[in-house]
Amino acid sequence: MQQEPPRISLVSPEAPIATPTHGGRAKCLQRLVRLELPVPRTVALSFACVRDVAHGRPPDTAQILAAFPEDALLCVRPSSEDPDWGGPGAILNIGMNAARRAALAETLGQEAATRLYLRFVQAYALHVARLDPDVFEAFEDDGPEALQQALDAYEDEAEEPFPQDRAVQLAAVLRSMARAWDGTSARLLRQARGAPADAGLGLVVQEMAFGLGQGECGSGVLQLVSSETGVPRITGRYLRQSQGREALDHADAALFLERDMRGPSLEERAPEAFAELVGYARLMREKLREEMQVEFTLEDGRLYILDGVRVSRTPRAALRIAVALAEDGIIPREEALMRIEPGALSELLHRQVAPGTRRNRLARGVAASPGAASGRVVFSAEAAQAAAARGEAAVLVRRETSPSDIRGMHAAVAVLTERGGMTSHAAVIGRGLGLPCVVGASELRFHTRKKTLVAPDGRTLREGDIITVDGTTGDVLAGAPAMVEAALDDAFQTFLAWADELRDIGVRANADTPADAQTARNFEAQGIGLCRTEHMFFEADRLTPMREMIFADTPEDRRAALERLLPMQRSDFIELFRIMQGQPVCIRLFDPPLHEFLPTDRAGMRELADALDLPLSDVTRRVEALGEYNPMLGMRGVRLGIAVPEIYDMQARAIFEATVEASREGAPVVPEIMIPLVSARREVELVKTRIDAVAAAVMTEKNARLDYRLGVMVETPRACLRADEIAQHAAFLSFGTNDLTQMTYGLSRDDAGRFMSAYVTQGVFAEDPFHVLDTDGVGELLQIAAERGRAGRPDIVLSICGEHGGNAESIAFCRQAGFDYVSCSPFRVPVARLAAAQLAIADKMT
Ligand code: PEP
Ligand code: MG
Repeated sequence: MQQEPPRISLVSPEAPIATPTHGGRAKCLQRLVRLELPVPRTVALSFACVRDVAHGRPPDTAQILAAFPEDALLCVRPSSEDPDWGGPGAILNIGMNAARRAALAETLGQEAATRLYLRFVQAYALHVARLDPDVFEAFEDDGPEALQQALDAYEDEAEEPFPQDRAVQLAAVLRSMARAWDGTSARLLRQARGAPADAGLGLVVQEMAFGLGQGECGSGVLQLVSSETGVPRITGRYLRQSQGREALDHADAALFLERDMRGPSLEERAPEAFAELVGYARLMREKLREEMQVEFTLEDGRLYILDGVRVSRTPRAALRIAVALAEDGIIPREEALMRIEPGALSELLHRQVAPGTRRNRLARGVAASPGAASGRVVFSAEAAQAAAARGEAAVLVRRETSPSDIRGMHAAVAVLTERGGMTSHAAVIGRGLGLPCVVGASELRFHTRKKTLVAPDGRTLREGDIITVDGTTGDVLAGAPAMVEAALDDAFQTFLAWADELRDIGVRANADTPADAQTARNFEAQGIGLCRTEHMFFEADRLTPMREMIFADTPEDRRAALERLLPMQRSDFIELFRIMQGQPVCIRLFDPPLHEFLPTDRAGMRELADALDLPLSDVTRRVEALGEYNPMLGMRGVRLGIAVPEIYDMQARAIFEATVEASREGAPVVPEIMIPLVSARREVELVKTRIDAVAAAVMTEKNARLDYRLGVMVETPRACLRADEIAQHAAFLSFGTNDLTQMTYGLSRDDAGRFMSAYVTQGVFAEDPFHVLDTDGVGELLQIAAERGRAGRPDIVLSICGEHGGNAESIAFCRQAGFDYVSCSPFRVPVARLAAAQLAIADKMT
């Protein structure tokens, strides 16, 4: 059994102090002591000791006090295992009493001695005796009268004189801090920050270095980098005649640290102490292998280092700091990569409202998906799609979104909802798409039917008005403020280049449009893993020929309509190939049911009747005839490819003609063509035969050679089970885990939202399986399919292209199963690159 460390230890180089038993602050102070920094004497109390104190068993104060000179003033600070879990505030100047005041008046001066005593009485009254803050925070000055008033008030309120005995004071301080940690609200707060229920608290008792008195006295904090950007720059403040972190609260009176045009600096006032301080900060960075904020005090010109805490940082700064530490040889690259949580990268990937820009705020909601975008207000997914088709930026405004809004979300530049929190549909999908999203903006009144949005100050917004959704801050702004582009700076590029060197699974992007493809390239995706071609047919100039095709009576008529679509499809593909510059592009043949392209209301039908020169009744009848009871399990995907083969013929021709053309201009293109919703080998054979014929025809017509790879999208359970025979006709299998999850559970993708939260809350599902891959059930099918697919074709390429592809758990699963790559939305690509590298590093470490 491990021996329990001593409960009270003097912080010396050899003392048995560890973060899990004494907390991070105690351990850090020991490191500073080992570096021989001028740290005042410190005693650390272990978690066990503090727990006892909280439960009414006082510590051996005599033992603690024996470590310090008899007349030393002390401070007590918390030392939790993780600084982010918080803890009670520090109490300074313990030991102050009437006698110490008189003695210190001789050395520090009357004024400083009085101030020290007053501050202690105030802190003790508020945080230890828990007396009325109104009484003790109200003193106008800090002279002798104020002190007397404070002592009198203490006696009145506490019904006893202010304690004069240092041991009594210390015991009371320790008890109040231990109890504060043990209280319910503190416990809940830290649990919300990820602390375990039984997280311990250590305390450190340290001899005070006075920041008040004769000569150069004061205190401050210093760090070597900016917390916002991570760029090397000495930042912090120093306040003369102050203690603790007061310098940060009195920025006006405080001095700069380094020489500065804006005002006086510590460097000018006390150049030697400044140089010494910067030297210590550098030493701490190097030896503690971290950017540290140094808390220091000058006492009559003499420098003391009281503490070091990890510099607080934005994700942007965190990344730059990690890169710099690795570049300076302080930490290995692997460690730099492990220090950044992949999800944190997504904040760097988006445009943001330019700092300093005036914000015309309408309301505030939950900042659910980072980045900012401006566009015209639309109130339905259809309107968002229509706006996108016109090339207009649209902000989709909904009470809440559901799966049926997904296409509209794809088309919008941002999403705003009235309801929901961080895990609502809009939030999760928004984050996946890299779409700025504010949810739960209930300050705004949403009248979706009247198509207005009313701000708390009465301003009314109508469809078409321009607003900005800032998903980083949660603001909804009127108009379109200036933006800054994503921070894909040199540190970001270097960092991800290191990740690429270490990861052992490919990362591609799902990209349907040239804009998506460009984003994918910017984020260095290794190709497109899924191009959903149907999105291309929703554009305004294509919808009519598409509908004509759907309504055609004969294959000839159908072909004629498709002829009109062919050049448009061809130019789509040429553009994609051009952007991807020789990287693989996997094009999925048409997938959705045809009726998705038809109007649903009477006005739309009338318009269609006009466009097609058909009687309205004819249109209505045909639209009805195309309706299905269960369209997601109906005439879609390869079934359509077999029943209406002209569509796939046209798409194959467009792909091959684009291949020939793009290969003429640049690197040879080898397109990948993927068949959706396959469940039987014969489906693949039939489609393959026709596509081969189209390839041969194009080669003859163009007098060119071309190569292509045909693959199957595995998204039905049967395709998983029959993967061996399907693989015989496929160069690759890509798992469409959206449909596969739907079919494995028998759970509609579009309707699951209604009961998903009840299912997750009651623990039926640990997570929504459409968001987090169900590695047990769906995962087992993936394993079976991978195994059988490899048996059918040993060199088969395996990948995942469902929405799950970008999250770390799915990547871990795919890597374990030996997949070649994952494909995810473009904005998830950097996240996936880092997550994959971290998995490889973690494997190497075990
Ligand atoms: C899937 O089903 O996982 C998939 C990627 O295709 P879609 O979402 O277009 O059905
Ligand atoms: Mg699918």
